[in-house]
Amino acid sequence: MTFRGRPAGQPPTTRTRTRLLRTRFAPSPTGSLHLGNARVAVLNWLLARRHGGAFILRIEDTDPERNLPGAEAAIMRDLRWLGLDWDEGPLEEGGHAGACGPYRQSERSERYATVAERLREAGRAYPCHCREVERDGAPVPHDDQACAARSEEERAALEADGVVPALRFRADQETDHIVVQDAVRGAVRFPAEAGGDFVLLRSDGSPTYGFAVVVDDVDMGITHVVRGAGHLSNTPRQVLLYRALGMEPPVFAHIPTVLAPEGGKLSKRAGAEPLAALRSAGVHPDAVVNYLSLLSWSSESGEDVLPRERLMAEISLERIGAGDVMHDPARLRWLSARHIEAMPLDALVAAVRPWVPAAGVPVSDEVLPAAVAGVRTHLAAFEDIAAQLRRYFPEQDAHAPLPAEEARLAGGVAVALAELPAWEEDALGKVVRAVGAELGHRGRALFEPLRTALTGEPHGPPLPTILLVQGRDMALHRLRQAAGERA
Ligand code: GLU
Repeated sequence: MTFRGRPAGQPPTTRTRTRLLRTRFAPSPTGSLHLGNARVAVLNWLLARRHGGAFILRIEDTDPERNLPGAEAAIMRDLRWLGLDWDEGPLEEGGHAGACGPYRQSERSERYATVAERLREAGRAYPCHCREVERDGAPVPHDDQACAARSEEERAALEADGVVPALRFRADQETDHIVVQDAVRGAVRFPAEAGGDFVLLRSDGSPTYGFAVVVDDVDMGITHVVRGAGHLSNTPRQVLLYRALGMEPPVFAHIPTVLAPEGGKLSKRAGAEPLAALRSAGVHPDAVVNYLSLLSWSSESGEDVLPRERLMAEISLERIGAGDVMHDPARLRWLSARHIEAMPLDALVAAVRPWVPAAGVPVSDEVLPAAVAGVRTHLAAFEDIAAQLRRYFPEQDAHAPLPAEEARLAGGVAVALAELPAWEEDALGKVVRAVGAELGHRGRALFEPLRTALTGEPHGPPLPTILLVQGRDMALHRLRQAAGERA
């Protein structure tokens, strides 16, 4: 039997020339992704991309009772939305990409059985006839020695009594402590009891999480296991398993937990909305990737707004700190606004288009790009376009009359604009400035009264854009009305 992993004794492989870095994201399909688990995916993906390695998606679906129908598809959709493509793993259209599959644990039972058998033959696993090995999914305390010392007769009697044995790992007798080498935390020492004789296969033959994960990581040649700090306590047993299989453990990196804004665990109530909620609000996916990266490490440049290419070029395990970090929704929105601001206009127009109808305003396709350009610095999410487009169109037709001086300006602008042969942004701006110069209005004294006349608000998008977006009829009507004329 061969494994793809690194045999014991072979030197570490970080950034080697001979073996590519291979990372994985291993969600259980028990729900959709949220910011906490998406961050693990982001870091693994960035590391693989930085080092020209492979990013593997593995579905850890060994617990049928917790699997949620549709969750696997939702996870894939979320990863695609974030732009985290996987080189190996299950595919949406069915089947798998990659040579180390299958990549769904429920399809790997035979492999777990084979490896378990090998451990048993090597004396590193034994059948456990205890009546209860797990309660509510958690292992029950176990008397390793008494169990391992059961005689054949006792075992046969228990089996005759209906006990189906589980398979238990036989921990190293000489181990007095177990050291986990962690890229974020350094060498973490665990007492030998953190290992113990743990269950590999339950009596129904299903693998435990700790066993399946090691078999898979070895089979899939994973070189770097980057995951949440909550898994650190599972790692000593995994290290023992690597040893028993004659394999070197991968580089482990247990990244700090993301806490809710007010401390405590992330929860839906405490700001950790599912990714799907961010997607349907039109938060920029690059901002989510940027935000989640910076929850763990920072650029040496000290910059915050980093496009994907910069993140890919600069990510490093060495820059990940060990302290807990806090989710900051305002920072996520701020980053989203910066990424939206930086989009080419045509891409931005395409991105906001699904939210345009919700504005309920008569903006034509022809002027949409100009309308979007005029408010682009006010968008923290694509959905914000609806409220922003409404700024071009006054709620009520009539508003308080302008003071005489400003009314004269509005009237003058209306007269000059009415003569324009074509309703184009540049020409509109020129006419407005020319009339302003004639009547002694410039800067704010020119634009604020006219904006008020057109939209009811002194501040807002550039005036020529408002004129263009409203269109000739509406704009002239509003200006004349503000001038006190009966339009
Ligand atoms: N399936 C585990 C989880 O969803 C991940 C296991 C691992 O990364 O080792 O938390």
